[in-house]
Amino acid sequence: MKKVVIVGGGITGLSCAYYLNKAAGADVDITLVESSATLGGKIKTLIDPAGRTVEGGPDSVITTKPFGLQLFKELGLEDSIINPLTTKSFILNRGSLRSIPPDFMSMVPKDMMGFLKSDLFSIKGKLRLLCEKWIAPSRDPGDESLGAFVTRRCGAEISERFAEPLFAGIYASNADEISIRASFPHWKTMEEKYGSITAAALKQPAPPKPAPGARKYSAFISLKGGMQQLVGALQQQLTGIRTELNTRIERITRQPNGGYQLTTNTGAQYTADAVVLATPAYTSASILGEVAPEASSRLNAIPYASTMIVSLVYARSDVAHLPNATGFVVSANEQYSFTGCSWTSNKWADRTGDDELLVRCFYGKAGNEHILQQEDSAIGQLAVREINNVLNLGDAKAKAVYIQRWPKAMPQYFVGHLDRLADLEQHLKACANIYLVGAAYRGIGIPDCIKQGKEAAESILKA
Ligand SMILES: Cc1cc2nc3c(=O)[nH]c(=O)nc-3n(C[C@H](O)[C@H](O)[C@H](O)COP(=O)(O)OP(=O)(O)OC[C@H]3O[C@@H](n4cnc5c(N)ncnc54)[C@H](O)[C@@H]3O)c2cc1C
Repeated sequence: MKKVVIVGGGITGLSCAYYLNKAAGADVDITLVESSATLGGKIKTLIDPAGRTVEGGPDSVITTKPFGLQLFKELGLEDSIINPLTTKSFILNRGSLRSIPPDFMSMVPKDMMGFLKSDLFSIKGKLRLLCEKWIAPSRDPGDESLGAFVTRRCGAEISERFAEPLFAGIYASNADEISIRASFPHWKTMEEKYGSITAAALKQPAPPKPAPGARKYSAFISLKGGMQQLVGALQQQLTGIRTELNTRIERITRQPNGGYQLTTNTGAQYTADAVVLATPAYTSASILGEVAPEASSRLNAIPYASTMIVSLVYARSDVAHLPNATGFVVSANEQYSFTGCSWTSNKWADRTGDDELLVRCFYGKAGNEHILQQEDSAIGQLAVREINNVLNLGDAKAKAVYIQRWPKAMPQYFVGHLDRLADLEQHLKACANIYLVGAAYRGIGIPDCIKQGKEAAESILKA
């Protein structure tokens, strides 16, 4: 019987185990090895003593990439899916919260009146964006940064005031470093295929209307019980799979029969015909050091940024003046340490009681990560100070503070990332049946991680 060892019980490893088990069941011997005491990796939902749902990691899944929603449905979680209560949000720019123009996420103003009225952009910036369709497409087939792409097509102001805080923020990166081809390939494709983003948006067919009575899903969805519900549902499907928690894989060596031997921190060993490494790139580098030194050095070269989520609970009476919105992201030149803030209780139903607002602040970004080193009390005070300042809360106190540090958590897809992946894959060719999957490679969002886990399962079954 084929033996498969999956290393890493985050969403990628779990998805791989689930799809492998679903397709092959008893025909494959599957072991899932996880170094920590729990499964889920970056997915970490806390239900606090007051019954609040506090996400320490991801809080939502995008639906324009189908793999998340599809897995929710397969796992019978459909009744637990929730849409956001509102989608209105702000950008902190030039000292004030400024509304993101309605329907503007694609950087093509679909609501022209709303766009023209927006105080986020100057008249010059708006006119420059409206010229986007006349900007000749680049003839360079290579990669470029998100910042360079948006500046070239939409103007420097749209890049600085919109793309940098919103899109580079997702990756905890700087817009001038992050690869457009690896992170937002659809924009590059739009330019290549239609000449401009505007032309592409105009030619895009309207999304298919849901069948009568079918449920409509927003661009982002979550689960009533928090994202941990996804982990719990996957865990329930792991029957027949050996799951080893608190077990760290340290190295892989080759066996004479062409298979592999994996050794743990306690010296325990597993043999495998196929190995899925669903661990951070730097961990996979260390595990592969002996068996694939060239691939290992390339894995080590994938940079990571550290981030942190600070969740604050305010009495609703202190924040009664806030507009009904999901929160804001912060422009790079503002004098704050945080990069964004979600008003979680306004965004998702039942995260707290009605008399409270849960505020989720994002800290850390490539080059601004020293903040994680501070003591909890200093971090809590800083977050309250910054939130009170931006939201004009005076000296309002947070009723509770939760801090989740994520050292070396966000892989950085710098310009040239896809070429470097091709080079890495070339060097891994000599190690048949070792699969590298997860956030470090082809998408950091949950749907992309699920997709990679699923594809690894399919490749193993095909091999
Ligand atoms: C703060 C934050 C907010 C985010 N928000 C969103 C969001 O809202 N929506 C979204 O789609 N994405 C979001 N992301 C991104 C997304 O959550 C992650 O990219 C994704 O969960 C990573 O999954 P993974 O399985 O690839 O890696 P991980 O979750 O890192 O899992 C890797 C696992 O491997 C284990 N491991 C490590 N070394 C070893 C070893 N030697 N042996 C055995 N096991 C080992 C680890 O303990 C871990 O459990 C967010 C990320 C962060 C950090």
